[in-house]
Amino acid sequence: MAVLPLESSFTYGPVRSRRLGRSLGINVLPLERKICSFNCVYCHYGVTIGATLTPEASDFPGVEPVLRAVELALRTCPEVDALTFSGNGEPTLHPYFRELVFGVRRLRDRLAPHAQLTLFSNATTLDLPKTQAALAWIDAPIMKLDAGDPSAFAGINRPAPGVSLETILTGLRALPNIIVQSLLLEGPVSNVHGAAFEAWVAALLEIRPRQVQIYSTDYPTAEENLVQVPAFRLRHIAETVTRRTSLDVRAFWLNP
Ligand code: SF4
Repeated sequence: MAVLPLESSFTYGPVRSRRLGRSLGINVLPLERKICSFNCVYCHYGVTIGATLTPEASDFPGVEPVLRAVELALRTCPEVDALTFSGNGEPTLHPYFRELVFGVRRLRDRLAPHAQLTLFSNATTLDLPKTQAALAWIDAPIMKLDAGDPSAFAGINRPAPGVSLETILTGLRALPNIIVQSLLLEGPVSNVHGAAFEAWVAALLEIRPRQVQIYSTDYPTAEENLVQVPAFRLRHIAETVTRRTSLDVRAFWLNP
């Protein structure tokens, strides 16, 4: 199945986001390939070649070119609701992610003070002090959690060597005020049935995020044979998990 092309610049959009409003995307990853510590079966950028927790620092763009691109984008279009670190892989793998967040925050304060600073992360570097320091400057940390048990985690996220679910859960439990995003799917691997579903709910109960955002495969996926969870089922799951946990669980979808 064809997947989406990689982002071809350090900023993209603003895009109209289901969750964030008008969001300026900030890509701190290389332009020509994805770097990630996961190889999610559903990734809309395709398969991760050589998933790693310790990429070469020389593979990443420098801080200055990224900040120049953000400044130019904000001067051109300051009417944004969010500045969002996302892009071609896992942003927190950038060796100078903390410096990037600090620089973007200063630009935000000067040029778009109403916009919130948002991060989409797979939570695999939460044990690193430099990630923890960067997160202190992020208004809305949106952390991926698709599984609460090692088997579903391995099947869905296909993590790089050295990544452990327990370390991720420990990091998420320690972070105040986070938003968890979970992609729910059916097919050869699934997190909406039986033990996998129960383990995911139990993990949410321990983390107690300020909000849980669930969605499914709205875009082309890295692997075929995955089955999208339809909108009516997402709504039902959101209601069920809200009732069982008292958490704020919201379902998002593109096409009902
Ligand atoms: S964490 Fe995100 S970028 Fe990395 S493989 Fe999964 S979906 Fe793709």
